Amino acid sequence: MPLIVQKYGGTSVGSVERIKAVAERVRRAAARGDRVAVVVSAMAGETNRLFALARELGELPDPRETDVLVATGEQVSAALLAIRLNALGCPAVSFLAHQLKLATDSHHGRAKIKSIDRDQVMSAIELGNIAVVAGFQGVDERGDITTLGRGASDLTAVALAAALKADVCEIYTDVDGVFTADPNLCPTARKLARITYDEMLELAGLGAKVLQSRSVELARRYQVPLVVRSSFNDAEGTWVVQADQAMEDVLVSGVTLDQNQSKITLAGVEDRPGLAARIFVPIAEAGITVDMIIQNASADGRTDVTFTLGKDDSRRALDLVKRVAAEIGAQGVRHEEQVAKVSIVGIGMRSHAGVAAKMFQVLAAERINIEMIATSEIKVSVVVSSRYGELATRALHDAFVGGAAAPGANA
Ligand code: ASP
Ligand code: MG
Repeated sequence: MPLIVQKYGGTSVGSVERIKAVAERVRRAAARGDRVAVVVSAMAGETNRLFALARELGELPDPRETDVLVATGEQVSAALLAIRLNALGCPAVSFLAHQLKLATDSHHGRAKIKSIDRDQVMSAIELGNIAVVAGFQGVDERGDITTLGRGASDLTAVALAAALKADVCEIYTDVDGVFTADPNLCPTARKLARITYDEMLELAGLGAKVLQSRSVELARRYQVPLVVRSSFNDAEGTWVVQADQAMEDVLVSGVTLDQNQSKITLAGVEDRPGLAARIFVPIAEAGITVDMIIQNASADGRTDVTFTLGKDDSRRALDLVKRVAAEIGAQGVRHEEQVAKVSIVGIGMRSHAGVAAKMFQVLAAERINIEMIATSEIKVSVVVSSRYGELATRALHDAFVGGAAAPGANA
């Protein structure tokens, strides 16, 4: 009998009606003869509501207590779904982190999973129950409740699927799958039938919210077959799998746009050892994550250093950079509050030359100036002026994904 792990996100369990629909879907899977473990998120908006409550009572609420608080969202969902399943005559047992023995380190709010004990869940399932697991939460060595980071019910699901050696991990959400681009932006965007773990990881890193990054990493490590699909219909979803030849032939699987970036340039920085560290150590110490960094080869002993970062951090970073710039005698600081990062992602880039060149041609044809470029093995990102972000995204999608079906990869 196949063993499947199903995970339902916040909108999928966002109301009593939705929980009824989810229970019905779970019941159908069980009726097919599948053995089922279900992982649930908190009801839509609940985690944010709880975080906001905590902040109302303490400016920097204690992380241990915050975890005790926010973990309740998933507890509620798990209990409600188990109640509904039982009411449908489908025996179900809920599991919280301590019962699952989902052991983590003690980094409250971003705990890392150390192990999961499969025995209790397995025996509940073997006895004919649906196991309903609260996502997002763990328990540390002291027995304290931890949480795994925003969006981490996906991670719970993949970790559970790996521990149970499940045949598949189904991630149910409010979209039909993974798309070649944001359909609101690109009318010709279409759902991918399959995507590789590596591509999905890049897309998640670029802000695709459909799957949490760490869950994709874990799925890749343990070769857990993932499928992302909607809990609102019966459409086939997108499989996230290991690459095969047909997938290697697809140059670009997805085009993404991030309008939440800022750009800071230190002009005329003296070209000598230690200055990059002087600039970036204070930023790192302030807990600010930097995205792209570019430093030019210097001609006259001075160089420009440009970097991008999330818009939310840009004011704080700018203050730090201005201070450092004065200390190290840089010639100036320039700042662009909002820039667009447009990226193309595709595993085919590994084996095909000229993808970046074609990307630059497409942008040139639209007369869009490229301000920065960064590449990885399967991704090319450019920074352009924010007002050209959407145009660039559409042009690149048309050029690389277009209307023509990519071999084997697209539905
Ligand atoms: N409820 C948690 C969050 O909103 C975990 C999840 O939904 O995956 O981050
Ligand atoms: Mg989610």
